[in-house]
Amino acid sequence: MLHVKSFTFNPVEENTYVLYNDQKECCIIDPGCYFPEERDRLKTGIEKTGLLPVLLLNTHCHLDHVFGNKFVYETWGPPLHLHPLEKPVLDFAPQSGLLWQLPFDNYDGPLVYLEPEKTIKIGDDELEILFTPGHSPGSVSFYHAAGGFVIGGDVLFHGSIGRTDLPGGNFGTLVNSIQAEFFTLPDETKVYSGHGPVTTIGFEKMNNPFVKLY
Ligand SMILES: [Zn+2]
Ligand SMILES: [Zn+2]
Repeated sequence: MLHVKSFTFNPVEENTYVLYNDQKECCIIDPGCYFPEERDRLKTGIEKTGLLPVLLLNTHCHLDHVFGNKFVYETWGPPLHLHPLEKPVLDFAPQSGLLWQLPFDNYDGPLVYLEPEKTIKIGDDELEILFTPGHSPGSVSFYHAAGGFVIGGDVLFHGSIGRTDLPGGNFGTLVNSIQAEFFTLPDETKVYSGHGPVTTIGFEKMNNPFVKLY
C-alpha cells in the first residue's frame, strides 16, 4: 500500500504529493515548488526519509502544478507523465508564468503519455488513471484502491470544485467527471486535492454546494 506525504508550495498554495511504498520508491505528483527554498524543502523531505523518486506525474499542467517538473527531472531523472491533451497546456505554462509575474523554466525532457483506465505502477502498487476533464482539457486523477485515496488535482476540493473559466475548461464536463469518476468510488475514499485540505467522497456528496447529491 502506498503512503502519502504532502507539501504546499508557491504563491497559489498548491499541494504537491509524494506517494511512496515500503521499498522507499516514490512518485512525485504535481511538483509546484517555485522558490529555491521550496525546492530544498522537497529535496530534503525526500532524501531525509531515504526515498527514491521513480515516477513524475502531472494531474494537469497549469503553471502552479508544473513549476518544479524540471527540477525533479534534473535532480532524480524520472520523465514526465501527462495526458496528451495537457501538452498544449504545458507548452503555454511559461507564458502564463509571465502574466502572473512568476517566470520559470519549463520542463524540456521526454514526455510519456498517460492512458485513462490503464494503471501505472510504483513497485507492486497500482494507481488507476481516471480521466477527469473540465477544469483543464486533459485532467487526470490517480486512484489507489488499496489505500482508499485519489489524487484529484483541481477537480474536486473540500466544499468546492475547480474553476472552469480557463482555456479548455467546461463546467458541465467537470460536473460530469466528478459524478462519473469520483462519486462512483467508495464514500470513505480520501480525496487529496491540488489546493486546500483533504476531504472524502462521502463528505462532498453530502455537502459540496456544486455537486452534492442529497
Ligand atoms: Zn489547475
Ligand atoms: Zn491548481
